[in-house]
Amino acid sequence: MLEQDLHVHTTFSTGDSAIVPNQKIEFIASVKHAKIIGISDHFDYLTGNKFDQYKAEVQKYGLILGTEVDGANWVDEAIQFPFEYYIYHCYDHPRDYRGIEVLLSTGKPVIIAHPQALDTNLNKIPLDCYIEINNRYVWRFNWREYYTPFVGKFRFILGSDAHQPNWLSHSVAEYVARELKVSNTLLF
Ligand SMILES: [Zn+2]
Ligand SMILES: [Zn+2]
Repeated sequence: MLEQDLHVHTTFSTGDSAIVPNQKIEFIASVKHAKIIGISDHFDYLTGNKFDQYKAEVQKYGLILGTEVDGANWVDEAIQFPFEYYIYHCYDHPRDYRGIEVLLSTGKPVIIAHPQALDTNLNKIPLDCYIEINNRYVWRFNWREYYTPFVGKFRFILGSDAHQPNWLSHSVAEYVARELKVSNTLLF
């Protein structure tokens, strides 16, 4: 069993084409692949009335209430809701780096999602953020070259990003973490 997985999507991510109807919160809770499980559905699909339903369902199974925020456009709205942490898409635009400051001002943990997939410049990321090693994406890039300058600077977090075929697994992310000699930071 994994110690912690905070990057998990469910059927609440309705517009995400990678999600299939079986990816229900109840099922994830039954599989229990990690001791600490955070659900991080895309904030774009959780606004308005949807949020209360999402919160109730996540908490019913004793899971942690997170969300994945797609850049600065969504930040001001996302901080209005009582999420316990944020996973953040930081594209390489000045406004997305500024969005991080807003998220950090909440005092909640901010995890920088699969940074290589979004061209995030880690030199521009505040050291208070956690940098994700994402099982879905990390192996697609030259992760060694990208992450090595930042080992010892940032704290890292392993995440599965619940899309097939890597759903509920950290196998590749754990390999990368071992090679980099970094560990999975436990937040909860
Ligand atoms: Zn993402
Ligand atoms: Zn995701």
